[in-house]
Amino acid sequence: MSKPSPWTTKDAEDYYGFKRWGGNNFSVDPQGNLCVHPKGDHRKIRIADIIKEVEASGLKPPLTIRVQDMLRQRVIQINEAFRKAIDEEGYEGRYRGVFPIKVNQLREVVEEILDAGEEYDFGLEAGSKPELIIALALLENRKALLICNGYKDEEYIELALMGRRLGKQTIIVVEQLSEIDAIIRIARRMGVQPQIGLRVKLTTAGEGKWADSTGENAKFGLTASEIVEVAQRLTKARMKDALRLVHFHIGSQVPNIGTIKKAVVEATRFYCELKRMGFPMGLLDVGGGLGIDYDGSRSAYESSMNYSMEGYARDVVANIKQICEESNVALPDIVSESGRALVAPHSILIFEAVDRITRDEGKVDLSKGKPHQLISELEAIRKNKRKFDPLERYHDAKEKREEAHARFSLGNLKLEERALADRLFWDICRQIRADLAHTADIPDELARLDSMLAEQYVCNFSVFQSLLDHWALDQLFPIAPIHRLNERPTVQATLVDITCDSDGKVDDFIDLEDVRKTLALHPFKAGKPYYIGAFMVGAYQDIMGDLHNLFGRVNEAHVFLEDDEADGFYIEESIPGYSVERILGMIQYNAEDLCRMLKRQVDKATKADSVRPREGVAMVDLYERLIRGRTYLIPEREEKPVKPVKLKKVRPKGK
Ligand SMILES: *Cc1c(COP(=O)(O)O)cnc(C)c1O
Repeated sequence: MSKPSPWTTKDAEDYYGFKRWGGNNFSVDPQGNLCVHPKGDHRKIRIADIIKEVEASGLKPPLTIRVQDMLRQRVIQINEAFRKAIDEEGYEGRYRGVFPIKVNQLREVVEEILDAGEEYDFGLEAGSKPELIIALALLENRKALLICNGYKDEEYIELALMGRRLGKQTIIVVEQLSEIDAIIRIARRMGVQPQIGLRVKLTTAGEGKWADSTGENAKFGLTASEIVEVAQRLTKARMKDALRLVHFHIGSQVPNIGTIKKAVVEATRFYCELKRMGFPMGLLDVGGGLGIDYDGSRSAYESSMNYSMEGYARDVVANIKQICEESNVALPDIVSESGRALVAPHSILIFEAVDRITRDEGKVDLSKGKPHQLISELEAIRKNKRKFDPLERYHDAKEKREEAHARFSLGNLKLEERALADRLFWDICRQIRADLAHTADIPDELARLDSMLAEQYVCNFSVFQSLLDHWALDQLFPIAPIHRLNERPTVQATLVDITCDSDGKVDDFIDLEDVRKTLALHPFKAGKPYYIGAFMVGAYQDIMGDLHNLFGRVNEAHVFLEDDEADGFYIEESIPGYSVERILGMIQYNAEDLCRMLKRQVDKATKADSVRPREGVAMVDLYERLIRGRTYLIPEREEKPVKPVKLKKVRPKGK
């Protein structure tokens, strides 16, 4: 076997796919550090430097890094994509996008999007009362749209109509037939001319993991017959003028552009018909669904997409134009509600691998005494004295190991012997895998050896808090170490989190074709942290994450490029994750009560002389300190009290 050629940073880029899924936003420097290019140009920031800076302020990983310039870039990109498509198609109408707040509600995210989108009159979409409450306060641009979706009660409708009174472009999208009467009634009472949209139930179904938003059984939208009904009720109420918009949403992360085209065509037909029936209209809203190429394969695979943002804009514009022209209908302004595509890329989750779980490695010493018959047999298989082929050898070893476990349960095998049997078995598996390293056609059973032998890297984070869709929907996210990329990663591993849940793991990874069952990582270096990043986690994960095992939100840092320095950056804001005290409060435990309860027990023990007074004081101190401390692990090398958090400098005005 020839010696493998030296590992380069280019190999790391290929293996982890940085360029494929990250485009111009990621590169590896000669020292093996992953760098982020917030604006996709030459200016870059070493991710390790961000971690260092944030740690200096007392906040450790797990850490969400928001690269705010990247968020701004995406807002500009979608607006420019539509602007270009409209130019090229000679489309007589504008693009008027909105950001659906539900995809990432964090104030700093919504504010950044509005700021970057100001010159495009970029608006907001709300799907609930709390989201509408955010939107009404934040969206001051009177030329921007405020689309109101979701189930609505009277309060919701009243609030939306209040927006009209303040001169906002609020559009209430009717999702259920019952809503129309309430809108008419409340608008009359308030003396407001409403602007109304209709969400149509398309026959075109979405696809992929998020496809349930359409089709006959979708929980949202009006059927053709309900639309006719709404049209009649509006006419009867003399509110024909209110109907302005047709809306559809076929689900998130639509991998196939063909599906999008079909839906656009069908929705445009609804638009043209309503126009023909004499409603003013003017807006066609194509909803969300614009995908993210998480695995970088550019395919119609679930975690990917077979089109670009620019291609999407072109297809939307061209198809609306064609259908409207065929029906002799004036072209509408185009609205889209892309959430995932705007916010997924800007956010990186950093966590530390803190331990490794290996498959019974260790020396097997059979020199002393006569080993148990079973052990001798396993040793013979290990030495492969009978020159069996790999599959036979594997079957034999597996059978002997099962026998060893059965005998142990019956009391016929000692613990030490069982341990030896396990070690021998895994040793045999490792040998078989090494022997097959350069074989093309590996039997299925042996192909599984890779994942059976994979180590588990224990990582200081919670899948349920930070990568919920990986657990819930098997969604793939790019995952890679953020340093040592100039070293060959020699360990095949899967990741496990620190929750007490066996589902808290990542054992599917992106690949160009299909899915990788293990990820190559580096062995630990004593005393040095090993940081891993999960990328493109800015959409949905933050808010859907849950409190399993009470870990809660992770620390967060918002990073900006420094304008005047070549490679400089600054942290605009850092937000501490949940403390134990805070998370306990959410489930009705008051920290002071708990401290008092513990202290009472300590006092009792001191009185009974089972605990010395000095020890008792120390116990109460520890308990009180940790209740204010953080929920995630504090790796051994950093056993210092957490310093108070100081907020970093505020971004200069007018940026
Ligand atoms: C969730 C949602 C969106 C956002 O979809 P993305 O695929 O994330 O762009 C847009 N519109 C509506 C009505 C939604 O419910």
